[in-house]
Amino acid sequence: MPRPHCPRCDRPLDHCLCALIPRLPSRTRVLILQHPSEVRHALNTARLAALGLNNAELRVGERFEDLPALLAQPGYRPCLLFPGEAAQPLAQFAAQLDGQPALLVVPDGTWRKARKLLHCNPLLAALPRVTLADGLQSRYRLRKAPMPGALSTLEAIASALETLEAPARFDALLKPFEALIDGQIAAMGEETFRRNHLRD
Ligand SMILES: [Zn+2]
Repeated sequence: MPRPHCPRCDRPLDHCLCALIPRLPSRTRVLILQHPSEVRHALNTARLAALGLNNAELRVGERFEDLPALLAQPGYRPCLLFPGEAAQPLAQFAAQLDGQPALLVVPDGTWRKARKLLHCNPLLAALPRVTLADGLQSRYRLRKAPMPGALSTLEAIASALETLEAPARFDALLKPFEALIDGQIAAMGEETFRRNHLRD
């Protein structure tokens, strides 16, 4: 029989993370577009981000028919958190906002799946692209093999919000992630974890 899961955080009930998930306000609105292949991902940190922020929404899909409505949030300036040559540093984008809040659109998935989302949704591909500062390290470092700067979706969102809304801090968002990582490593062993869950 499958173990009962918490309907909110989707963890097994005896590992429910809800007590650690904050409800943080932000001026920035966060729209996370999650590729369906990520839903069953053991770490699903996008879900933790959506639960931990009052002004955030998580949508799952590959082609988002209602994207025009999702992007047309009155008063918000949309941008896509996605690296590449056309991307400008987020701090530079923030400086141009002139008090207007940002709508931060975050594709969630491996690079390949995230590119697929852009391909399937031309409106996304047309958004101004922003990128995080170079050299950010995941808070979680494997003991034997430090991972090369890859951030989880949750860490990327926390970092982006701290850039957009400095000096506000969003590290409380990471609390359930840290507990989850500790539990995951213990449960599956580091080798499996590294193979299955670290992104390039
Ligand atoms: Zn829960």
